[in-house]
Amino acid sequence: MSDYHNARLAMAGTAICALASLVLLAMHALVLAAGASVAAVFGACAAWLWLRPALEKREDGAPQPGPQAQLRDLAPLLEALPEPALVVDREGRISGSNAVVRKQLEFEASGLRLSAILRHPELLDAAQAAAEDGRGSTVEYQPAGSLEEHFRVYFSPLAWGGQTAALMVFHDQTSRVATERMRSDFLANASHELRTPIASLSLLLETLSGAAREDAEARDKFLGLMAIQVDRMRRLVDDLLALSRIELNEHVPPLGEVDLDAAAAEAVDALALVARERGVALELAVSGSNPMVKGENFQVQQVLQNLIDNAIKYTPAAGGIVRIECGIAEGREQALERAGRRWPEAGRIALLTPPPGAGDRFAFVRVSDNGRGIARRHLPRLTERFYRVDPDSRSEKIGTGLGLAIVKHIVNRHRGGFCVESVVGQGAAFAIYLARV
Ligand code: ADP
Repeated sequence: MSDYHNARLAMAGTAICALASLVLLAMHALVLAAGASVAAVFGACAAWLWLRPALEKREDGAPQPGPQAQLRDLAPLLEALPEPALVVDREGRISGSNAVVRKQLEFEASGLRLSAILRHPELLDAAQAAAEDGRGSTVEYQPAGSLEEHFRVYFSPLAWGGQTAALMVFHDQTSRVATERMRSDFLANASHELRTPIASLSLLLETLSGAAREDAEARDKFLGLMAIQVDRMRRLVDDLLALSRIELNEHVPPLGEVDLDAAAAEAVDALALVARERGVALELAVSGSNPMVKGENFQVQQVLQNLIDNAIKYTPAAGGIVRIECGIAEGREQALERAGRRWPEAGRIALLTPPPGAGDRFAFVRVSDNGRGIARRHLPRLTERFYRVDPDSRSEKIGTGLGLAIVKHIVNRHRGGFCVESVVGQGAAFAIYLARV
């Protein structure tokens, strides 16, 4: 309320008091009783007390903090805040809190000391500084016993009625901290992956420029090894770039349409030579109905070729068979059931499920092999970046550890489903299903 308005209310109050006093004084003057003036003053005060609440209302009807205002009057305001918030008085007692903070810090009553529910000295000092000295501050806070949760607590001095207090508001920073950690882990992993081929290359270069310099046979051998390392670096950089590009537009649904039977046939053609070189047979069984799905052809190819390429890589050269089967399904349950069941006894898991409303009719592609398979405990982690089932084996040399992460992000952009099942020693089957147009 403005000073001008305050002054007007005060003047109005005084005028009414004066008027009431005059009326009463005039009445009592007639009888000239000795106690008349006392009654007049008493009457005026009663009138003022009766009128005061109305006069102290602002034009918009909200109460004005008078000297008698209590910190607990702020309860409705705290309750309206979406974030955990509480008010601490100068004595360090909680005089108000909202339901969110009570749930978060697991306390019920007001009047508790802040130190009884928070044992973080920095938070207690900051609350005291705000309530007593009017100093606002911000404190980063991680609840005891929780490694994941992170909060930033804002302390603001508060003057209400005749009292001062501290308003504490908790901002949840958990997802920001997790994202930062993921980013730094990712950078550390990516540099580690690049460091290995670089170290091999510099060793090979050293040998080539020294002992092997004049030896033509050794030179050819080392040049061949260098080409392998360069290829490994190139694949890693390609996959890293692909992943960041996919993440950039992951929230933008694809506009095109793809015939999934034709896409599967195209992916098989693209990898036929690789399979032949490894002595692995590719078998294709299309659905025959040429189901059209919502998708971007280039990315659907990337998904199918990554899955077929993995199946070829992790299947033994002699007698290896990779089957690519397409089919259609009504509803998500049926899609998961049809796409993801190759062996009745297999460990299976949905790596991604389509969001509700993604569609009712689906088409799927399943890529299965008769390779070494994957133990059940690894299945949930397969789409993590750089995750390898057996990091010390051949897989580090032949893969980047990013292929399935790329698949998951693309399928997610397409609002589709992705599942895996496997029986160790018998093989693995990966399937994706996308909504039909
Ligand atoms: P990579 O480039 O190393 O193949 P991926 O993300 O494509 O990375 O796969 C992650 C890991 O999953 C692989 O390192 C491998 O251990 C395992 N894997 C993927 N596909 C198969 C498969 N068909 N059979 C057995 N293991 C597989």
